[in-house]
Amino acid sequence: MDKVLVTGGAGFIGSHFVRRILQADDIAQVTVLDALTYAGHIENLGEAFLNRKLTFVHGDVVDAELVDGLVRRHTAVVHFAAESHVDRSFSAVGTFLTTNVLGTQTLADAAMRHGIERFVHISTDEVYGPLIEGAASESDPLRPTVPYAASKAASDLVALSYHRTYGVPVCVTRSSNNYGPYQHPEKIIPLFVTRLLRDQPITLHDRGQHVRNWLHVEDNCAAIELVLRGGVPGEICNVGGGTDLTSRDLAGELLRICGADWDAVTHIPDRRCNDLRYAMDWTKIAQQLGYRPTHDLGTGLVETVDWYRRNPDRWAPLAHRPYALMPTVQVAAPRPERDRAC
Ligand code: NAD
Repeated sequence: MDKVLVTGGAGFIGSHFVRRILQADDIAQVTVLDALTYAGHIENLGEAFLNRKLTFVHGDVVDAELVDGLVRRHTAVVHFAAESHVDRSFSAVGTFLTTNVLGTQTLADAAMRHGIERFVHISTDEVYGPLIEGAASESDPLRPTVPYAASKAASDLVALSYHRTYGVPVCVTRSSNNYGPYQHPEKIIPLFVTRLLRDQPITLHDRGQHVRNWLHVEDNCAAIELVLRGGVPGEICNVGGGTDLTSRDLAGELLRICGADWDAVTHIPDRRCNDLRYAMDWTKIAQQLGYRPTHDLGTGLVETVDWYRRNPDRWAPLAHRPYALMPTVQVAAPRPERDRAC
């Protein structure tokens, strides 16, 4: 597993993972395959390019010929590339299915042909759908609500089917919400931070009652490396261990760190199918692979805000793309029966 192909390595989590894996002495080559969509930025890899082990390939994961040629020259694949923003998925279901499902199938197909030693497919807790109480374990049924989560659930099933059918050594990780530097300002933490840093208001859906588990991106990347090195093929590992917060409590923390007060907050109607709560049981990866998250949310948020404060050049240009900084995407008013179904 010394030659690693990382898809989506110019995105948020992928770029953190690339920096991490480049430091490993036993890794001889790291190739990033990334289409550089609105969410991918070559600058996210910045100084990583000083490391001669890193190569960047600009291309699409659904390009079967390109993918085949790349997979052939590697021993492991870590597959981050995806359309990742729930709000965008409401108006671009086809794009989400193409990248997330067909992209995964294209990679898995090549992995099968070239006898890849390990294929780590990166997924999300959103595939389990909302939970009123308790925590989802890896064997729980998939109940995705929104198109993004459905496309990820489908891609998980496709990836795992390549293990069962063809013996491709696929491992799946499902993590909770990541935060940290380099995240695109369409996602809630950088959205709030970049607005508060410019003295602009932030918006909370409904009463801000939605609960998410906030995991530092470096803890997730540590978990992914553990799975790359020691995960059992055909198995899924939940990756949690962050801090559960309602979006209202999250806003309160960020207001405090940014030196703003509640006057900066306005409430807007809830978005369609805004799952009330996600929660995952991650004892499996802790017991099997010794995973332990090490980042405390309070410190992690202070450091994250500090990064956005010190690097306006990294996110300010995105402010000129209105969609990227919109707090929510307005869609046609949902029919009541459809709302109930969520
Ligand atoms: P991101 O949107 O920041 O990055 C996605 C990357 O994939 C970008 O660099 C983009 O250019 C690239 N990409 C998109 N379409 C592509 C294509 N067709 N071909 C090649 N490259 C393409 O996403 P992220 O937040 O870093 O998430 C990475 C992975 O982790 C995704 O699979 C996502 O579903 C999963 N995940 C994310 C979170 C989170 O909190 N961010 C939580 C759980 C799981």
